[in-house]
Amino acid sequence: MTGPGRGEADCLFCRIVARQAPADIEYEDTEILAFRDIYPKAPVHLLIVPKRHVESVMALAPGDTELVGRLVLAARRIGEQKGFGERGYRLAINCGPEGGQHVYHLHVHFLAGRLQERRVERR
Ligand code: AMP
Ligand code: ZN
Repeated sequence: MTGPGRGEADCLFCRIVARQAPADIEYEDTEILAFRDIYPKAPVHLLIVPKRHVESVMALAPGDTELVGRLVLAARRIGEQKGFGERGYRLAINCGPEGGQHVYHLHVHFLAGRLQERRVERR
C-alpha cells in the first residue's frame, strides 16, 4: 500500500480517480469521488476521497477548509441517496501510522447498515 511521503505518483487512490485502477464508483462531483471499499467492514462501506492528492489530515492546510467541508457534505448526500439519511451512518478518518492509515490519500470511511450491535458491544 502507499506509505506516507511517497507522493501521488504511485498513489492507489489517484489511480482510481484517473480511472487507471478499477473501482466501483458510487458518487462523483467536480472535486470528490466515492467508491466501494474493497474489504468492506460494514454492509455499506465507501471511501470518499478528494480528487486532488492530499496525503492525510496531517497534510491539510488552512486553505483546505472548503475541501474538508465538501468531503463531509458528499458523505451526507451519499447517506441520503442510499437511504441512511434517517437511520444514520458512521464517518471515520484514520490519520497516520498510529491512527491506522494504510493508504496515504485522504479518505473518509462511510460505514452504514447493521452497525447497532457493534455500538452496544462497546459500552
Ligand atoms: P485506511 O486504513 O484508513 O488507510 O483505509 C484504507 C482502505 O482502503 C481500507 O479499508 C482498504 O480495505 C481499502 N482499499 C485498499 N485497496 C483498495 C482498492 N483497490 N479499492 C478500494 N478500497 C481499497
Ligand atoms: Zn493520491
